[in-house]
Amino acid sequence: MSVERIRVLICDSISKKGIELLSSAGFEVSYIPDITSDELVKTISNFDVVIVRSRTKLTRNVIVAGKSLKAIGRAGVGLDNVDVKAAKEIGAKVFNTPDALTNAVSELAIGLMLNLARGISLGDSSLRKDEWLKNRLMGVELKGKFLGIIGLGRIGKRIAELSNAFGMTVCYYDVVDIPDAVLKRLKLTFMEVDELLSKCDFITLNIPLTPSTKHFINSDKLLKMKQTAYLINTSRGGVIDEHALYNSLKSGSIKGAALDVFEVEPPLKNELLTLPNMLCTPHIGAQTEEAQEIAAVSVSEKIIDFFKPIG
Ligand code: NAD
Repeated sequence: MSVERIRVLICDSISKKGIELLSSAGFEVSYIPDITSDELVKTISNFDVVIVRSRTKLTRNVIVAGKSLKAIGRAGVGLDNVDVKAAKEIGAKVFNTPDALTNAVSELAIGLMLNLARGISLGDSSLRKDEWLKNRLMGVELKGKFLGIIGLGRIGKRIAELSNAFGMTVCYYDVVDIPDAVLKRLKLTFMEVDELLSKCDFITLNIPLTPSTKHFINSDKLLKMKQTAYLINTSRGGVIDEHALYNSLKSGSIKGAALDVFEVEPPLKNELLTLPNMLCTPHIGAQTEEAQEIAAVSVSEKIIDFFKPIG
């Protein structure tokens, strides 16, 4: 197939470098970053490729309407907004960019951890209301504390690397074996999940959302955490039972939590947002110029490569 005839629909806002790359490779690019799902179902049959970030949901309904669809690009890691099974059934290849966002999400997790430890956001918002909370804002230091990483994949490993610089003791739990060389380099100790929950001062969740990880953190696991411990989630909202977390924070059975991701986004009327010991950000883990450029370029390169004539 000649590249001139390949029509690409970009449904979410992506870095213009990726768009330029596709256009200069001869693809016909339609950039509609605010397309609604109804419009998408109506127009998707006109395209050979669809590129999304996380806003657009490529459900079975949408994918089967894509009669000409040959490839789907996800500028990012998680494929929970793409019905991969439906894509396979219609013969469309799915590409994502697993490495592009690793550093951005890891740095956010560290930022949330520091913010929880020192009450930076509360200090800022109270000062703007003419309140001087200096005495109330007695924090803790990261140095010497135990950090528990649940899910030692790309992001988990980068968080471990960064946390070493703070002098933290870094522990992890994962379902896969991690090579000894990695554990040695990152100064990591394996702990069973219950031990990790009961021992660590900060716990960061970096696991994918799958049927087996849904509500991975539930009331039983929250009860195992120390009263002084903080929970950080930059992975996917569904890995925490939010109502259980609400009860835990409200009763003070853990000290605080920071969430970048929610079961329903945006989290309108979410009871968690009423709590002072809850810190939240609107799913900005990957929202850096650098990560978005790498993701857009990487997904565009994969699409270009896929359509490259053989030989
Ligand atoms: P990854 O696949 O590299 O790592 C995930 C790790 O979790 C793997 O090592 C896997 O073995 C482990 N794991 C899976 N199930 C587990 C379980 N039940 N218990 C313990 N460990 C388990 O993924 P990654 O690139 O590090 O991304 C991690 C998470 O971050 C994903 O959920 C991803 O969607 C999310 N993410 C969020 C943002 C954001 O904007 N906040 C951006 C990118 C990625």
